[in-house]
Amino acid sequence: MKFDIITIFPDLFKGFLNESLLARAQKKKLIKINLHNLRRWTDDKHKTVDDRPYGGGAGMVLKIEPIFRAVKSLSSYKVRKVKTRIILLSAKGKTFTQNDARRLAKYDQIIFICGRYEGVDERVAKYIADEEISIGNYVLFGGEVPAMVIVEAVSRLIPGVVSKEESVKNESFSGSLKLKAKSPKLTREHPHYTRPEVFVLNGKKLKVPPVLLSGDHKKIEGWRKINQK
Ligand code: SAM
Repeated sequence: MKFDIITIFPDLFKGFLNESLLARAQKKKLIKINLHNLRRWTDDKHKTVDDRPYGGGAGMVLKIEPIFRAVKSLSSYKVRKVKTRIILLSAKGKTFTQNDARRLAKYDQIIFICGRYEGVDERVAKYIADEEISIGNYVLFGGEVPAMVIVEAVSRLIPGVVSKEESVKNESFSGSLKLKAKSPKLTREHPHYTRPEVFVLNGKKLKVPPVLLSGDHKKIEGWRKINQK
């Protein structure tokens, strides 16, 4: 899986991409993440990516031309038969869910367009992007954090990225939990506990549920099913 991220702030991603499981997944060549500065596709000496909104109003808007050129030059599908999805990050887009992560994990390449300022020329949403995705009903400074969220959620589903495959299969919103749950809403994983067995808070003893200490795997499995939220 290849992720191509178009942004005017590529440095924002550095720590995020170079630590922990995402760093390991890139080293193992399970995923490839390329950062692209949108200014590379400008043609004036100031490398202008934005302009004032038609009709007036506050804030600047990212222009369509550099975005079009960036997407055109990064799309692999014309070269090889590669399944590419072009995503515009947008507060007014469809809210991202685990189902979307599963769906997107089937592509060979995802191109992200990160907005900034007042947003992106609407023609990008209409004619260039395949879909507009929001990570929640709030407004952020830019599409970089939303792109990181999606890269992480999708990467976890690529075989080999999370070492114990089980831990991806049986977690919240996973297909297997959906089947076990009585209602589609009941898809969250069971609660987890670890040492200490008793934690004292304001004089109160907070204990781990005794069944989890019983060693009886059938009982534990039953308890976990009941306690799946
Ligand atoms: N004027 C826009 C609006 O009211 O929806 C907000 C623009 S926001 C300051 C700049 C950029 O951040 C957007 O173009 C988008 O790429 C990104 N962004 C902000 N909030 C987001 C969210 N919840 N999900 C995805 N992207 C978001």
